[in-house]
Amino acid sequence: MFSFRSIKDYHIFLQNNVDGCSIAVKHYLSKIEEKKHLNSFVEVYAEEAIKKAEQLDEKRKEGKPLGELHGVVVALKDIISYKDHKLSASSKILENFTAIYHATVVERLLAADAIIIGRNNCDEFAMGSTNENSVYGKVLNAADETRVPGGSSGGSAVSVQAGLCMISLGSDTGGSVRQPADFCGIIGLKPTYGRVSRYGLIAYGSSFDQIGIFGNNIPDVALALNVIGGHDELDASSSLVEQEEYQNQIEKTPPKTLRVGYLKDAFNHESLDSEMKTKLIDFIKTQVSKDFTVEEVDFEYLDYIVPAYYVLTTAEASSNLSRFDGVKYGFRTLEKDISLKELYKKTRSQGFGKEVKRRILLGTFVLSAGYYDAYFTKAQQVRKMLIEKTKLIFNDLDILILPTSPSPAFKIGDKIDDPIAMYLADIYTVYANLVGIPAISLPLFLHSNGMPFGIQAMTSQFKELSLFQFSHHLMQQYKSYENPTL
Ligand code: GLN
Repeated sequence: MFSFRSIKDYHIFLQNNVDGCSIAVKHYLSKIEEKKHLNSFVEVYAEEAIKKAEQLDEKRKEGKPLGELHGVVVALKDIISYKDHKLSASSKILENFTAIYHATVVERLLAADAIIIGRNNCDEFAMGSTNENSVYGKVLNAADETRVPGGSSGGSAVSVQAGLCMISLGSDTGGSVRQPADFCGIIGLKPTYGRVSRYGLIAYGSSFDQIGIFGNNIPDVALALNVIGGHDELDASSSLVEQEEYQNQIEKTPPKTLRVGYLKDAFNHESLDSEMKTKLIDFIKTQVSKDFTVEEVDFEYLDYIVPAYYVLTTAEASSNLSRFDGVKYGFRTLEKDISLKELYKKTRSQGFGKEVKRRILLGTFVLSAGYYDAYFTKAQQVRKMLIEKTKLIFNDLDILILPTSPSPAFKIGDKIDDPIAMYLADIYTVYANLVGIPAISLPLFLHSNGMPFGIQAMTSQFKELSLFQFSHHLMQQYKSYENPTL
């Protein structure tokens, strides 16, 4: 029986198994079938994946040079463009739309010999925290099927959690990789803004969006980032800062001199579950501080970050989503003999779901002439101030610790009718997107309700290597959560 632990072990397995990629793909296809009810995939590329696996097995037999992700089975959030495959952002408005080019990350995955096995369910246009806003229906958390997997990349998180692929890619505009990773008990990384090309990623909030990675261990996530990251001339916001080689340096124990801070106000915030608070503070004070220099960090802006995030991202979304008008892409209203304006209106009213409409309206409002300064300009000022404050924090620190989410995964339906409560639960994740720094969620602990929870670590821009070294250390030393579904 095939079992997956890490890409490194899998590559050793491939050296000893001539048809190893085919074995792996068949294993995943049958697991996906067995776990179909979780609804994490909206489409599975079974035939293609088998064919690709056979080609890769052949490639090894011929002794050709192998890609870094040779035979690695990957799933993609339904928001990343894969040429000649359907792409819908889990929205009716993109019904039957087929991608006409590869996203840069897809180009790089394929060039590295990865096998793309399917397209993952998500919240419509990546807006949400539970994967309940999808035209394909909700996704179930494999650790407890009555609970949400988090969102918006819920399907991608569950595919890794339930052992339906080796790694998966999601997008993180305000936590959509880290929060579902936390809810599902796996690792979720949001790289520095500009580290990974956004070319071919359907835009939600363009100055926030970043493609992120789900995995089971740090070396796998780091390897995947090395493959998909780095400058791309097709994305003007992708950075020219050279990407480090993470692979060989991760295992190095991070120096004891690594300065770690924890946001006191984040751990004292009233929204944080009390059991998590006790456990996390105890962990920082007794374990992290044994290995590193740890200090408290004051941060009086916590209550401003969610409002600033929702003003700015909805403003960007209202502009980004204006292109879906029934003329250029996907769905068009079936009503006939109507004016062009009516066609736009009907298409958008019928094609977008409730949450997406709410955000387009909110974004249009905050950008409107009479309110622009009161909301949009003000939120931009908050963002600017946060960026300055963050620079100061990282003058004295290498790593900053926060919770990932105020609670473990909650029950399906619990928050869906209360958008404000849902938005407020993004309190710990949106900060990294507002200031563009990398952040990772690590699944370290088990809650008494049976669900996993972890901590979130951040560092300054382009310091992913420090984040990986620190995270690898914590995962090796202190991980007490075992994923029961693998
Ligand atoms: N929960 C956040 C939101 O709904 C995050 C979304 C995301 O990162 N794509 O906006």
